[in-house]
Parts: sequence; structure tokens; C-alpha cells
Amino acid sequence: MIRLYDSASGEVRELRLRDPGRLAMYVCGPTVYDVPHLGHGRFALVWDVARRWFTFRGLVVDYVSNITDIDDKIIARAAREATSEHEVAATYEDEWWRALERLGVAAPTHAPHATHYVESMVALIDELVDRDVAYATRDGVYFDVARVPDYGLLAGQPLDSLRAGARVEANEEKRSVLDFALWKSAKPGEPRWTAPFGDGRPGWHTECVVMSLDLLGEDFDLHCGGLDLKFPHHENERAQAVALGRPFARHWAHNGWVMVGDQKMSKSLGNFTTLTDLLARADPRAYRLLVLRSHYRAPVEVTGATIADATRALERLDALARRFVLPRLAGTALVRDEVEWRGEAAALAAVVGAQLDDDLNTPVAVAALFEAVTRAHALADEGRDEDAGHLALAVAVLFGAMGLSLEDRREAIDDVSAELVARRDAARAQRDWARADELRDQLGARGWLVEDGPEGTVVRRP
Ligand SMILES: [Zn+2]
Repeated sequence: MIRLYDSASGEVRELRLRDPGRLAMYVCGPTVYDVPHLGHGRFALVWDVARRWFTFRGLVVDYVSNITDIDDKIIARAAREATSEHEVAATYEDEWWRALERLGVAAPTHAPHATHYVESMVALIDELVDRDVAYATRDGVYFDVARVPDYGLLAGQPLDSLRAGARVEANEEKRSVLDFALWKSAKPGEPRWTAPFGDGRPGWHTECVVMSLDLLGEDFDLHCGGLDLKFPHHENERAQAVALGRPFARHWAHNGWVMVGDQKMSKSLGNFTTLTDLLARADPRAYRLLVLRSHYRAPVEVTGATIADATRALERLDALARRFVLPRLAGTALVRDEVEWRGEAAALAAVVGAQLDDDLNTPVAVAALFEAVTRAHALADEGRDEDAGHLALAVAVLFGAMGLSLEDRREAIDDVSAELVARRDAARAQRDWARADELRDQLGARGWLVEDGPEGTVVRRP
């Protein structure tokens, strides 16, 4: 049983699926007007981990994540750079997919573009107008939030207190400050689509409700996104579905913020300004490991120091891959089935599984996996090669289930050390243990930690 915190009910509860064995999830994607920032990287990683884990648990996952390719910020950038909105969106969408590929985030089952769904959005808005849940003003069509009795469910606040806290706006035609734009009337020189309520373009909140229902169907299982989207974006998506009497997401999940510290723009501290910047300067797997070591609902601090710390931890995993010659694993159900879970590996899988099934408790699962890394080395040092190898493979499979590959990245080894390694292997082949120990000491003097793997001597920096 998979349990997940539900932002609508405010509790961790069982993920009850519309179709048993199949999970339909929607993750709000980026507005492509600039290079991706660290927060984008986090939501992509968190929901990629969730998707991979659900798949590992045997579910078929339909994963939809959209691209918002029309928006005020895209229009503003196109005007500033004297180019087209399409050009701006295409440029930064490319950046987005490149970043996700480097992060090892699996491609969505569908990645709909807002501009391809405008006709359906117009139809939805028209229906809301027909039902008098939406009304036209000079600058566009607005949704009347007072028409949804439980508006504020995701915000966790009733309508009155939300209204009291809202900013007063310039548009005096709005019935409430909380009413939001479904359609923005065309301004000169801006992209426009025709609609019965006047030429213009869709509002952001209408995009996601149309695309999620179109691709996943009513009553889909899981709607995800960053905490910053919970209100008003998700609240407003939901309000439209409720007003039309269409069953919407069964479960809402939100990931926590990215903290960059007080000196976030200081490059001299080795901190990162954008996701693109981080990926240029660090092993992309370090960001995934950093994300895994925090609970997805908690904030995570992404700085030069925390990425360096994750990189050092990663080195411990790679050292395991070198010593035990582990394969690179993508974390699929097929991989799971290839492992014969027994002994300490089975116990480890049980602990990790219980933690991840309980609201994706990755930090506790990862801590258990690092303890198993230490244990695998200890077993090998005791000469229990088979148990050690089995446990090491289990570690690789379970990290693979969260999308993290252990990599046999051999550190560049100098010629003299390489010669000592070769001589030591030859001595061991001749069962000349005294000579082998002597060569181990010589390698140790050159700063290497020497280990015996299934294919001979393996050296790494301690
Ligand atoms: Zn959205």
C-alpha cells in the first residue's frame, strides 16, 4: 500500500487508484521564458523519484507534464529581444529538456503544450460563461470564485479569510479580488486566438485543467507540483473542474521549497544561480542525491557546500560500484525481478520499501542504504564475497529504483600506481601473499586505499 500526504485533506493517506494497477499523474511543468532555476530541478527530481518508485512497485504510470508556451513573461521577453514568442518558448523549452536529460529525469508519457490546446480552453471557458460561473470584463473573462462553495480547500483557508488577505487590484469590474483571469483580452501586437468572448489568449490556470482532463481523463489519480503552485494555481484549476461538475484529481501532492541561503547570488561562495549553472559545475547525480536526502515536503538547501557534501557521498557509492563491478541501473521493475532477494539484501529492501511507501520517506531509506554500503565492504573484507556482492547489488538496485545510478568511475590513476596494481594482481595469482601485502603498502604510501574486488585489485582515494 502506497501512502502519500494529500494537500486537500491535510493528511497522509492511501493512494487509492481509479484503475487498479495504473496510476495517472499530472505534474505542472515550466513556463519556458528563461533558463530553468533550482526549484524547477527539484520538482522534476521529486516527481521523477515518485514515478520511478511507483513503477518499481509494479504500477503502470501515465505521467503528464506540460509546457506553458504562452504567457506574459514570454511575451515580455520576445518584445525585449525583438523576436517572436514562439522563438523564446522554443529556445527555453530546449534548455528545459536538456537539463532534465542531464538530471536523469525520465521523459513524460505526454508533454502537452498550452498553445496546442487553446480550442479546448475556449470551449471550457465558454461553458463556464454559459453557467454564469465566469463573466466578461474589458480586459478579459474572470472566474467567479464565490460560485465554488469549498474554494480555499487547497489553500487551507475559507473564502472570507482569503479575501481579507488578498491584494486590491485595479480592475474594478471584478466581482471579487480573488476572481482570476480565464482569458486575457488581446492587446496590440500580442499573440491572439479568436473566441466568442473576444480575441485573446488563455490564462495559466485554464491550461492545466484542460490538458490534465484531456490526457488523463476525469477523476485522475495524482496532481503534483511545487508548494508555490498550491494556491492559487491548483486551487483555481480545481475550482474550474468543480464548477463544471467534472471529477478532478483524487490526490494532491506538493514538494517543498529550494533554499539558497542569504547570499544566493554570490558566485564567490561557490553557490549556484540556476539549474543550468549547477549542471555545468557539478555531477547532476549530486543534485538528485541531495534531493533524496531531504523529505520531499521539507525545504532543501542548495548551495556549493550542500552539493559538495552530496558529491562526496556519491563518491562512496561509486567506490562500491568499482569494488563490486556493479551494473548501471535505471530502476525498473525488470531490474527488481532480476535480483534474488535474500538475507541482508531482503531485509534492506523491506526497510527501504516500507519507508518509500510511507509518504516517500527518502531520507530514512537513503540512510539505510548508506549503512548497507559500509556493511557490504565489511563483509568483503571478512572474505564473505558472495554475501557482500549480493548486498552491494541490492544497494545499486534500490538506488536505481529512485533513479540514481552508481557509476564505476575510475579515478585517473598514474602509471606508477597502475604498474603496482598489475604487479599485486600477479603476486596474488601466484599466491605470493607477502609480496601482495608489500605492494598494498606501496600503494597505500601513494595515497590509495586498496581493496580486493572480484576482478582483482581496486584502488580509490580514502
Ligand atoms: Zn499547472
